[in-house]
Amino acid sequence: MSFLAKVYDVELRNIMKKFQNNVVVQDFNLQVEQGEFVSFLGPSGCGKTTTLNMIAGFLEPDGGDLLIKGQRMNGVPPYKRELGMVFQTYSLFPHMTVAENIAYGLKLRKVNKAEMKERVDRVLSLVKLPNVADRYPKQLSGGQRQRIAIARALVIEPSLLLLDEPLSNLDAKLREELRDELKRLHHEIGVTTIFVTHDQEEALSLSDRIVVLNHGFVEQIGTPLEIYNEPASEFVHTFIGKTNRLEGEVVEVNGDRLTVRTNEGLLIHAAKQTRKFAPNQKVIAFVRPEKIQLSATESNEAENNVKGELQIASFLGSYTECEVKVGGNTLSVKVQKLIDKATEQEAAKGIVCYWKAEDVLIMPTERG
Ligand code: ATP
Repeated sequence: MSFLAKVYDVELRNIMKKFQNNVVVQDFNLQVEQGEFVSFLGPSGCGKTTTLNMIAGFLEPDGGDLLIKGQRMNGVPPYKRELGMVFQTYSLFPHMTVAENIAYGLKLRKVNKAEMKERVDRVLSLVKLPNVADRYPKQLSGGQRQRIAIARALVIEPSLLLLDEPLSNLDAKLREELRDELKRLHHEIGVTTIFVTHDQEEALSLSDRIVVLNHGFVEQIGTPLEIYNEPASEFVHTFIGKTNRLEGEVVEVNGDRLTVRTNEGLLIHAAKQTRKFAPNQKVIAFVRPEKIQLSATESNEAENNVKGELQIASFLGSYTECEVKVGGNTLSVKVQKLIDKATEQEAAKGIVCYWKAEDVLIMPTERG
């Protein structure tokens, strides 16, 4: 048995960063395993880029230790960290061809010409752009430029790949395409990756683990499923996707099942709760719009059946987003089926919303 401490590809120990007197990252602890894809997710200004820049060596932490492959990196300049980095803006050299751009890092490392060509060709086919070596960046589309930026980061065979919102300047379709491409690349080469994003879908679809940040603090670290199904806080739950938020009070507790009466008088049944609650406790009940179904009649599949009136139905292609007035509450509901005009008119007079007790998440009302 070994008593040596485990070596992680990246380790943050109580990392703190401040600008003047403003603390922007605090108590950041993280251990990234070899080959992991970890995302930093959070709203603008929460400290994602600052943390990534500390890992890259562009910024120095004001407290704590930063380790890469077990070596303490505080004070070590970026070029000695052997990292590949891709930024939000393409950051290619405009006066160099694609091949020259990609080869730049190899030239600095004095790799010979033959090997350089072979490695450039290899990464170009890896990012599925084998025929653009002689073009200049301005002759490429935004998506192609970003692929080249990724190729340039990968060609040095970095021990760690750092991606700072690399998809955010692309339009929706390209963004999705390149997201899938990143996933494929990561499967193929398995390089340990840290990815900064404020887009929850990107984080959910790409990551082995997600670090959710809020105002410089880590709210939760977990797999996409843990973050989605077992959020550590209201912030995490609401940031990760649309949700119905219903404030109320616990009226009955039975093991992990409970009933909540919302302030508007709606009774909500919840099951499989990991937190403990007591009668009369002030709580918030959350139900995701996609967990609620609509029907003309009550369902015996679900514990929650409430009558309401459909107010708005917006067809959005693969789904329809509805607003249903239920007593004093308005529920947002996302259904897969198309709602035609006749159904919409009927539903405006009366419709049943139903959802399972286990799809309800109860959280204590936060103090203060
Ligand atoms: P975004 O998604 O908008 O890039 P972010 O989560 O990456 O946001 P950071 O860029 O890390 O956020 O910024 C965190 C906080 O630090 C912000 O409040 C920002 O204004 C502040 N900040 C960042 N860089 C500096 C700097 N050089 N000097 C002073 N304050 C800074």
